[in-house]
Amino acid sequence: MKNQSIGKKDPKIANLIEEERKRHNLTLHLIASENYPSKAVREALSSIFVVKYSEGRPFKRYYGGTENIDKLESLVEERVRKVFRLSKKWAVNVQPYSGSPANYAVLRGLLKPGDKILTLPLSHGGHLSQGTKVSLSGQDFKVSHYFLSKEGFLDYKEIEKIAKKTRPKLIITGYSAYPRKINFKKFAQIAKKVQAYLLADIAHISGLIIGRVHPSPFPFADVVMTTTHKTLRGPRGAIIICKTELKQKIFPKVFPGLQGGPHNHTICAIGVALKEAQSIQFKKYTAQIIKNAKTLAKELKKYNFHLISGGTDNHLILIDLMNKGISGKEAQDNLEKAGIIVNKNSIPYDKRSPFNPSGMRIGTPALTTRGMKEKEMKKIAAWINEVISNPKSYSKIKKEVIKLCKKFPLS
Ligand SMILES: *Cc1c(COP(=O)(O)O)cnc(C)c1O
Repeated sequence: MKNQSIGKKDPKIANLIEEERKRHNLTLHLIASENYPSKAVREALSSIFVVKYSEGRPFKRYYGGTENIDKLESLVEERVRKVFRLSKKWAVNVQPYSGSPANYAVLRGLLKPGDKILTLPLSHGGHLSQGTKVSLSGQDFKVSHYFLSKEGFLDYKEIEKIAKKTRPKLIITGYSAYPRKINFKKFAQIAKKVQAYLLADIAHISGLIIGRVHPSPFPFADVVMTTTHKTLRGPRGAIIICKTELKQKIFPKVFPGLQGGPHNHTICAIGVALKEAQSIQFKKYTAQIIKNAKTLAKELKKYNFHLISGGTDNHLILIDLMNKGISGKEAQDNLEKAGIIVNKNSIPYDKRSPFNPSGMRIGTPALTTRGMKEKEMKKIAAWINEVISNPKSYSKIKKEVIKLCKKFPLS
């Protein structure tokens, strides 16, 4: 096999890569769950570690030739401990392929099929892998729900009532579309009262927690799961952290329960992302994510956008578009024509279907990675307003968007 570059060997795919790079470079990505990992993280992702099989755990493998993998995986586990300041009471597993299978491994590890779980439904900001009917997490377990208040906030008194009534074996907190802080301590108190496990799914907010701009789920949750590609700014992957006494239940569900060989190139890149996350710059980055989201929220409110819960404490904003006479899908499509990428989203108590919901979700992690600040957020809010009130303005706005993007090129 000749060792040619991808451009020579496979021009068609090389071209798609280039087109995708251009698309990112010339559009504003406001998808709350996406981010741009650094060059170093991407280098690690395509490293020689992609080759190796290493089923098992560090220093307990089923394959030979794993001396470097053992060092790598234990180093990455150590970095997880460091960024979250964990004592020896916590066990770490960096092997899950992604967040959804990691959540499933936790559920199957701690529960028997048919056991009860208590979650926030998808329509109120929960994630598909948290007990929805279409997911195995919802098919294998009996699912009850707590809900957000009419104003869009977690209501801990109400959650406690529902927990006492439904007596779940496990409660999930941590969401995909909740713009406010989560009080993990209160969740732990509720879980304790009904003798349920508490799973904190910090997929969206783990970077903010590491940067200390959002409260930590430690030591309150029994298990913490995070993806590594959202605010944490690593490769696509996931981490499970649990109390050591639960490790024998949960870790065998990751391997061999659900997975085979770990994706060592991913683990390698998670390690690099965690090293970056230890820096002062990362802490500043997470603080800027929130400043940007708050600015965007304030500006959008000036244009009479209705924000669920009235604003944001974190990296994302959920907008109810009903008063603008436009659906989430139309808003998403119109904004995309202007080079502004968002996703349609259900809002709590939505009267429309999830395929064409009443809201849209926007987030600031990716734009903040590009270096944008409050000044740019003000411009972006004005453009969003203009496109939504006058869809025909998209070509004019698109030119402005491209001009701004060129000032903040992707590295
Ligand atoms: C993104 C997300 C996940 C799952 O992540 P995947 O890696 O896409 O499977 C799980 N939980 C929450 C709350 C999320 O936002």
